[in-house]
Amino acid sequence: MTTKSKKKTTTTRTKAVLFHKAAIIGVGLIGASLALALREKKLAREIIVADKSARHCALALREGIAAEATRQLSRAVKDADLVVLCTPVGAMGAVARVLGPHLKKGAILSDVGSVKQTVIAEVAPHVPPGVHFVPAHPIAGTEHSGPRAGRADLFAGRWCVLAPLKGGNAAAAKKLARMWEKLGARVKTMSAAHHDKVLAITSHLPHLIAYTIVSTASDLGAHLKDEVIRFSASGFRDFTRVASSDPVMWRDVFLNNREAVLEIIQRFSEDLTALQRAIRWGEGDKLHRLFAESRKIRRQVLEQKQDTNEPMSQRKP
Ligand code: NAP
Repeated sequence: MTTKSKKKTTTTRTKAVLFHKAAIIGVGLIGASLALALREKKLAREIIVADKSARHCALALREGIAAEATRQLSRAVKDADLVVLCTPVGAMGAVARVLGPHLKKGAILSDVGSVKQTVIAEVAPHVPPGVHFVPAHPIAGTEHSGPRAGRADLFAGRWCVLAPLKGGNAAAAKKLARMWEKLGARVKTMSAAHHDKVLAITSHLPHLIAYTIVSTASDLGAHLKDEVIRFSASGFRDFTRVASSDPVMWRDVFLNNREAVLEIIQRFSEDLTALQRAIRWGEGDKLHRLFAESRKIRRQVLEQKQDTNEPMSQRKP
């Protein structure tokens, strides 16, 4: 199925244009946000989205996310000079196998996967000679998923990590970096292994903790569970928000960043045991020191504009 929207066109001709045709594969939260942002900043003359879901293709057209939507990967990437994989991490290898033979010589192939090493291992073998694979990860997101969750401003002020391959095309990496910067992101280049370690602590472990806390609460007796939900404003609420993130995406993240996540869980449980011990033995000084240190880290997060002190209930979706 390939459908064109009668409502809107993404065709644009300005000096800002970086790409002739951009193909976004997977039109969920990140794919839709990228298509909307590329359109808003006029960085691609033509934008096409592809998704395995007919419903998501139809939604993408109805919401004006792209002028064209298709379930046919080969059609989406035909003549595209930018192709970005925005599916869950676990699907990227299979998607690359199907679209690889249809990629145009000189095209940039990138992705937005939250894990870099396994994505590279699974995608790189399907990249034909002359196509430049530049792995990336915009560190921006919400707990929402699907095309309707897309927002053109999702990447503004956020980091985007590039993990270029050794010996990869430097000009292609530079052009992709320019694209993310024009979308408002700050770009940082690092190795895939380093990325996976950093994200294991900053993103993957916090999600795992949120899932665990919500699951512990749901195992409580019915009466206690009701109370937990009623009084959720005291902290539990924020964990339920994080734990409502897309289950497929997070399943794939943990399965694909296994080593780094297991290492960080080990460290975390050692620290948790130390805390448990401090509580048991009434070591108030130790607890105070640790909590005071944590406060400093929070201040640094705010200083680097990675969050605001706005109450959760008043934030944009
Ligand atoms: P999402 O909202 O669930 O979107 C994924 C889209 O890909 C869905 O429309 C899905 O369709 C489609 N899809 C799945 N398998 C496919 C296939 N084989 N071929 C074509 N389309 C396929 O997820 P998301 O949050 O945008 O995440 C997408 C990627 O961005 C992931 O790799 C994730 O690691 C990364 N990322 C996410 C965040 C975040 O906070 N969410 C942040 C940065 C990066 P169905 O729903 O029908 O399966």
